[in-house]
Amino acid sequence: MKIGFVGLGNMGNPMAQNLCRAGHEVAGFDIAAVCPDGVTDAGSSAAAARHGQIVITMLPDGNSLRNAVSEIMPEMSAGNVLLDCSTVDIASAKAAADEASAAFVHFVDAPVSGGVSGAEAGTLTFMAGGTQEAFDLVLPLLKIMGGRVVHCGSAGSGQAAKICNNMILGATMIVTCEAFGLADRLGLSRDKMFEVVSTSSGFSWSLNKYCPAPNVGPNSPSDNDYMPGFASDLMLKDLRLSQEAATSCDADTPIGRHAMEIFRTFVEEENGSGLDFSAIIKKFETP
Ligand code: NAD
Repeated sequence: MKIGFVGLGNMGNPMAQNLCRAGHEVAGFDIAAVCPDGVTDAGSSAAAARHGQIVITMLPDGNSLRNAVSEIMPEMSAGNVLLDCSTVDIASAKAAADEASAAFVHFVDAPVSGGVSGAEAGTLTFMAGGTQEAFDLVLPLLKIMGGRVVHCGSAGSGQAAKICNNMILGATMIVTCEAFGLADRLGLSRDKMFEVVSTSSGFSWSLNKYCPAPNVGPNSPSDNDYMPGFASDLMLKDLRLSQEAATSCDADTPIGRHAMEIFRTFVEEENGSGLDFSAIIKKFETP
């Protein structure tokens, strides 16, 4: 299949490469002028869109998606598919869906979980929103780039699922780090806390699979000086999206709001920017 790919950064680069390895003809574009091996440099978003029956976007935020869509859409033909894998606000996803619909182009929002390592290994989880027809058209490609694909509902519902997941993740990581700080002060060893909690009712992905304490539990960014992984900046972005969404539908999310504020302080005032989000443990450690 001919695929256009716009946004070849940390995530888009390995995702596009996996599509090439599976035998697809990928023409890509990134404003940073990067292009992975195997992908043809299209030179512009419009040219990438002209090349592909399916155009995939993997961009930093809603504004860059809106900009890219305004260049891509005039070049797409009726029946083609725009597949946005970026994490963006629900309003931008829905605006892209409306623009696509007006041009008789299918749209699917399919943000991912799994980070750069998941993108490289082709094991991402995709949370997809769109019509059944559009979803069926992109499913074979999602299966190449990912391990698990969930069709969540209509356009925008992939973003809704992503936001809910990461609000839980951010809050859970904070409380896990708080517990390590508390254990330190109580004289409980981190190994023993891990041994008990990882097999008790306090277990979570943050503790069991991504332990924020170095040299405890499985290998994770904490064992590599908190190199991301999933950067604190991206967690802050997703928590902000969750609170924007909560405000838009009048949902009460006090813990999510507090988690956003804790990550905002960490990123903007406490040198947390560029570190993995599990580095938030530094706030709770005894100096
Ligand atoms: P990135 O910043 O590394 O890559 C985005 C790329 O888009 C950049 O190379 C940038 O030059 C390019 N770009 C921006 N505007 C453009 C435009 N108008 N046209 C063409 N190219 C444009 O970001 P990333 O880490 O690859 O993340 C991409 C998306 O995936 C984000 O929405 C992020 O929230 C989400 N995500 C990232 C991770 C992660 O671990 N990195 C995990 C899950 C989800």
